[in-house]
Amino acid sequence: MTEREDLLVPRPEGLYCPAGDFHIDPWRPVARAVITHAHGDHARQGHGHYLAAAPSEGVLRARLGEIDLMALAYGERIQHHGVTVSLHPAGHVLGSAQVRIEHGGRIWVVSGDYKVAPDPTCEPFEPVRCDVFITESTFGLPIYRWAPDAELFAEINGWWAQNAAVGRASVIACYSFGKAQRILSGVDPSIGAIVVHGAVQPLNRAYRDAGVALRETRLVTEIADRAELRRALVLCPPSATASTWLRRFGDSRVAFASGWMQLRGARRRGGYDRGFVLSDHADWPGLQQAIAATGAPRVIVTHGNTAPLVRHLCEQGLQAQALATEWGDERLENEEPTVEGP
Ligand SMILES: [Zn+2]
Ligand SMILES: [Zn+2]
Repeated sequence: MTEREDLLVPRPEGLYCPAGDFHIDPWRPVARAVITHAHGDHARQGHGHYLAAAPSEGVLRARLGEIDLMALAYGERIQHHGVTVSLHPAGHVLGSAQVRIEHGGRIWVVSGDYKVAPDPTCEPFEPVRCDVFITESTFGLPIYRWAPDAELFAEINGWWAQNAAVGRASVIACYSFGKAQRILSGVDPSIGAIVVHGAVQPLNRAYRDAGVALRETRLVTEIADRAELRRALVLCPPSATASTWLRRFGDSRVAFASGWMQLRGARRRGGYDRGFVLSDHADWPGLQQAIAATGAPRVIVTHGNTAPLVRHLCEQGLQAQALATEWGDERLENEEPTVEGP
């Protein structure tokens, strides 16, 4: 990012808007931060003032505690030092937003994390026309292509039903914020009880408070019947699969749900019985679709596989470049406390 008078420039603290004097998802403490979503690598502690999309308020406050937060409805415009700022759905997790910045006749959009595939747990991705689009590229390689939800959930429900039939619990290791709720939106509760780890339940509550319908979930301590536990579907953070917490379910099978499961050998290396390819990021076709829909002639690519995407966009005749940030991958964005829940 070397062009003069860019609306956003890299700074040691994070991406900075000089005209508006604010940062977007900064990784070091700043006075004014616009936050795209509540994942740990984008929403950090210690900023003076936070601006975020209204549906993310519950999760942000739960994770960051006492913060000075202004919650903005999607599409609502505010002015700051003559810069117009608005937030638009990114389809990534509850409350996730793209940041649209307009100043001096130019429009820049920062995608944050996003996906374009439908997800009943959050507002769908909204394409926003702009001159410069700053896009994530977590899964920016042509090998990443997600199956439709109907196919994915048929696979998950089939696996669960099979395990339940022989009295084995079905454990899915998944990240507590976003991934767990996405799974809860599509599993078949007629197969058995759905048990969630103590790290997942507060996030379910935030989703329900925001009006998102999720299947009924219980904590392991709320189920006395052993036979019921042995037929259950269990959602827990990856850290819990290596803990004694899992023993309460007796004989179980453990799966991992992540976009990385598309990589050959990833399931085996993680020591999981099964891998489900499930991501809250755009796959390769999704990235292309989102970028094209912005109409932006200039694209700046951040976190993930930036080089292949930059090369591909340049071949399409776009002005594309990579930008180093401290935003992480699925693992980093979901760093979990390792404490054992109830
Ligand atoms: Zn994220
Ligand atoms: Zn990210």
